[in-house]
Amino acid sequence: CGIIGYTGKKAASKIIIEGLRNLEYRGYDSAGIAALENGQLKRLRAVGKVKELETSLLKNKLSSLCAVGHTRWATHGKPSENNSHPHTDCGGNIAVVHNGIIENYLSLKEDLKKKGHKFKSETDTEVIAHLLEENLKTVKNLTAEQKLFEAVRKTAKQISGAFAVGIIWTGAPGIIVGIRKQSPLVAGIGDGESFLASDVTAFLKHTNKVVFLEDNEIVVARQNNISFYDENGKEKKPLITQIKWNT
Ligand code: GLU
Repeated sequence: CGIIGYTGKKAASKIIIEGLRNLEYRGYDSAGIAALENGQLKRLRAVGKVKELETSLLKNKLSSLCAVGHTRWATHGKPSENNSHPHTDCGGNIAVVHNGIIENYLSLKEDLKKKGHKFKSETDTEVIAHLLEENLKTVKNLTAEQKLFEAVRKTAKQISGAFAVGIIWTGAPGIIVGIRKQSPLVAGIGDGESFLASDVTAFLKHTNKVVFLEDNEIVVARQNNISFYDENGKEKKPLITQIKWNT
């Protein structure tokens, strides 16, 4: 299982597929991608190999410069297209990829259902998308990026378990927010492009300047720069590691 996110100047879907290929060794049963295109969220998912997703991408071209991808190792809900990531909210504006387990998802799901949320999968992950949708309603008088950031911060406090999560939102195009707790998440700093992934192998071809996120850290990846914050929203100076290329 693995996650990858890309925002930059190149065709995101190609970089995501390559990245997912490089994460295949971690094991998985299905794969998916979500991208923002002309202000809309587009999503493709397939059970089986990354190759199946690639075939589907040939028929449904994505020209986006910002996307997230996932290989799933099912823990909650059988391997199926509906249970494959990315997962979305009711409005179809938020896409979430997640590695790990949300331990309190059942109680969160009940609460969200009472608020009118309709669930489309059996996964623990989907609660994250719906929580974000709820939390985005409560953040006001902020820039789009700050709104997303605050909604993510609030959501991170509501979920328990192990997670590495990547999020995109139609309200803040070009931005990917990532959070982690007990599951690995690494950011890649490129030239006019930024990456997020479970493992550096996913994007090492593009950059060897990486930041290994600490527990509870939040990352905001933009095309031209990338910022790191602690759980209280305070910006942190990242420790940048240069990975040696084996050439
Ligand atoms: N628990 C999530 C699911 O079953 C994520 C699994 C994973 O890490 O791939 O969909």
